[in-house]
Parts: sequence; C-alpha cells; structure tokens
Amino acid sequence: MSLVRTEALIMKGMDLGEADRIVTAFTRKKGKVRMVAGGVRRTRSSMAALVQPFTYSSLVIYSTSSLGRLRHGEIIESFAGLREDLVSMASASYLMELVDFLLGEEDSQEGVFTLLLNTLQLFKEVGPRVLAIRTFELRLMAILGYSPHLDSCVVCGADYENKAFFSSNQGGIICSNCSGGGKIPVSLGSVRLMNELLTKPLRKLLNIRLDGLMEEEMERIMTDYILYHTERELKSLSFLRSLKSFNP
Ligand SMILES: [Zn+2]
Repeated sequence: MSLVRTEALIMKGMDLGEADRIVTAFTRKKGKVRMVAGGVRRTRSSMAALVQPFTYSSLVIYSTSSLGRLRHGEIIESFAGLREDLVSMASASYLMELVDFLLGEEDSQEGVFTLLLNTLQLFKEVGPRVLAIRTFELRLMAILGYSPHLDSCVVCGADYENKAFFSSNQGGIICSNCSGGGKIPVSLGSVRLMNELLTKPLRKLLNIRLDGLMEEEMERIMTDYILYHTERELKSLSFLRSLKSFNP
C-alpha cells in the first residue's frame, strides 16, 4: 500500500454500506482509480463535497492494487454549476463515461486528464457547446491512438474531390471509387473542420459557425466511430440526445 497525492476529477460513485461511497476518479498521476470514501454520506462529513461528480481536487489516496482508500483532499474547482444545469450535467457525464469506457484502470494518460479538465472548464465558462463535445471526442480518440485519417482517402490516398465518405472500420475518409456503399457521406467542409478541431487551440474553435449539415455529419461520424471502438452505445449519450432542448 502506498500513499499518493494527485489531482483528480470525480467520474462517478455508488453507495456502500451506511455512510461510505465507492468513487471512481480520473487522476493526473494514476489514470482511473477506484477508492472507498469513508463516511462521506454523513451530514457532517468534511469530505462529502470532494466526491461530488466532476469535482476537481487534489486528493491523497491510499493506493492498493484493487480498491484504494481516500484519505483526504482539497477542492480546487467544484464545477457545481455543471451539476445544476441538466444539459451541462448530461454533457459532462458523457465526457466522463467516454473516458471510463475507453481507458482501463490505472492507465495513466496525462493528456486525457488535461483535455477533460479543459473541456469542463470551457463548459463552465460558455456552456456545453456542440463543437467542444466534438473536439473532445476527436482529441480523445487521437490521444488513445485512434486518430481518424482525414487528409486523403484511407485506401488509395486520393485527395478529397467532390464526394467522400467516412468509414469507421477503415479509420478515416474514403473516396467514392473505394467506397463499397453503406458508408457515411461527408462534405469537404466537415473534413476540414474536423482537421481544425484536432489541431487548433480549443478557445479559437468557439468562434467557428457550425452549419446544420456539418453539425449533423460530424455527429453521425463521431457517434459511429466511437461505437465502433467502444462496441456499445453509451447510456449518457442516449440521455443527452433525448434532451430535446439540447441546442447550445
Ligand atoms: Zn480511394
């Protein structure tokens, strides 16, 4: 057993016994960590606020090979506003579930931690924008080694002409000559925008105007691409889609 101090973002939790909670946190140093947070459901617990979803804190954890134990910690940013607004809550939950699905326990990925933290910060400042969610998805896939090939046809290398498709199992765009049908059509505008989302500073992307066609194409592509890699639909994504008012 060793004592670890690390920055953490709370992903989820479940009640244990009378007053405890098992909490999953994504930590900067050790990736995804599961730990028992003792007594946090007692009304006077000083640690109750630490284990709320999305809370960004510095935690001290007794780390073991299976289930750790939260010793204490300090809140850096509570992200309380994200828990009070339904669309923000659903959007932030989706980011967390995506990371939870794609990363194993104690798979240390500092790039993912920074991306997650920056995206939550952006949600807090400007709301859960669609572009920020697409950027998160694309960059997360890229960090994990699944960056889609967007520069040319993934099969023959031809440049984008007037028509192309996206193939999740081929991992990128595919020209009309190589497409065997059943692929998702993609416009040149969406291909260019996805390239920008992968490379430009996050805040610069928020000025981009997203037209309806590009929004629809990118949502279809990323949903299909993520489903291909996670092999099942994420509950939080279905919930996010069910919010009819979702139009940040
Ligand atoms: Zn081709």
